[in-house]
Amino acid sequence: MSNPSPVAIRQTQLLIDGVWQDAASGKTFETLNPATGAVIARVAEGDKEDVDRAVAAARRAFEQGPWRKMDARERGRLMYRLADLMEQHIDELAALETLDNGKPIRDSRNADLPLAIDCLRYYAGWADKLEGKTIPIRGNHFTYTRHEPVGVVGQIIPWNFPLLMLAWKWGPALAAGCTIVMKTAEQTPLSALRMGELAMEAGFPPGVINLISGFGPTAGAAIAEHMDIDKVAFTGSTEVGKIIMQAAARSNLKRVTLELGGKSPNIVFADSDLDAAVEGAFFGLFFNQGQCCCAGSRLFVEQKVYDEFVERVATRTARQIVGDPFDPNTTQGPQVSQEQFDKIMGYIQTGREQGAKLVRGGGRVGERGYFIEPTVFADVDDGMTIAQEEIFGPVLSVIPFKDVDEVIARGNCSLYGLAAAMWTRDIGKAHRLAAELKAGTVWVNCYDVFDAAAPFGGFKMSGIGRELGSYALENYIEVKTVTVAL
Ligand code: ADP
Repeated sequence: MSNPSPVAIRQTQLLIDGVWQDAASGKTFETLNPATGAVIARVAEGDKEDVDRAVAAARRAFEQGPWRKMDARERGRLMYRLADLMEQHIDELAALETLDNGKPIRDSRNADLPLAIDCLRYYAGWADKLEGKTIPIRGNHFTYTRHEPVGVVGQIIPWNFPLLMLAWKWGPALAAGCTIVMKTAEQTPLSALRMGELAMEAGFPPGVINLISGFGPTAGAAIAEHMDIDKVAFTGSTEVGKIIMQAAARSNLKRVTLELGGKSPNIVFADSDLDAAVEGAFFGLFFNQGQCCCAGSRLFVEQKVYDEFVERVATRTARQIVGDPFDPNTTQGPQVSQEQFDKIMGYIQTGREQGAKLVRGGGRVGERGYFIEPTVFADVDDGMTIAQEEIFGPVLSVIPFKDVDEVIARGNCSLYGLAAAMWTRDIGKAHRLAAELKAGTVWVNCYDVFDAAAPFGGFKMSGIGRELGSYALENYIEVKTVTVAL
């Protein structure tokens, strides 16, 4: 790659109680550059003992520290300050994200960062607007509710959008007045560590935000099982989501929100603007190297335009520029890790074996790093593995359908229910599908439109609860009913 060290690594330790420190065990782990496979840095490897210390610090900050007594508006002001600092360091943060995750710099700089900053500002505005109710009950009583922060929250995030997932989780937690113990993904710890420094600079009191780099079965499990964490928020695989929920139930019944996998249908009708639909089908799957929980990985195309559409999507895919993620022209970087690379190549092999028609791609790009050709399979059958399992890579499955009833039933025939999209000019059909598709988000004539104000989350095995918008705040609030005899 052209530039082996495009950004300085300033921080590799754990952030506990406002102090940067090594792991109690002294252990570290390597974080790799997915474009080359080279080691970027060694990072402190947190484990149970570090989580215990972070939770104790978060508890103290929650019960006794200045955070507890701070005016809600002041909490909001700290959040605005953090967002301003992010903006001042936007190029550095985008570079860290691209270095550690492999996503093209044009995406990290123009999508991940602006969205993350916007999310913190959105929630900063909520900090002083969390109001209870007065409730008329029977008898001579005065009843009201208080919306109190749920307490110490554990947050476990994945590697596909490290900073954006951090912002989605910090935003509502901080606005509500909670304190945080966050575990980042072992593949991508770096940008969050820089955020920890910026949070200290913004003036968040010690213990309000604690950061643990480390692995799932050790540090992550310690969070899920902890007796003094009041709530856990997790984004990742459905498999691990189940483990988290079990651990929460076994320990202290901490509140649980989960944002998990998907196999989202993207449905193209013959009456749609086909140019827009081709672009939407392409973007809906290939954005972020296909590493999106809401990727439109089941592309249903109406029979009448099927052959033409397959060809047009394949042609569009050929324009993808795969390569050095720091090159501003690059539109597709490497997958995040060798493990993900192997998993995706395995799915491509399975697709071939099960008889899907490989229209484009299917191979590796280059000899180092985890680059995969943008891949299109046609004539995919609902029963094939590539139509059922989450691939989390640049592999599109195009599936023909005949009519509306059929595509609703087949679209819903999944254990997942994260997102769905459709392309049509028929407004009646659009609203009918919007009502009948079992998904937490439905996009009509667009894909991957995200906004901090619009809730996001899954039906079925795609999760529990909603992130973003006012809905996410409910996850971080306990409602207390106070009744006074008059
Ligand atoms: P992916 O397969 O996309 O890497 P995972 O669900 O494995 O997704 O990982 C998402 C996050 O969950 C990461 O931060 C990871 O370290 C963490 N994690 C993995 N296993 C566990 C576990 N057993 N308990 C808690 N957290 C875990």
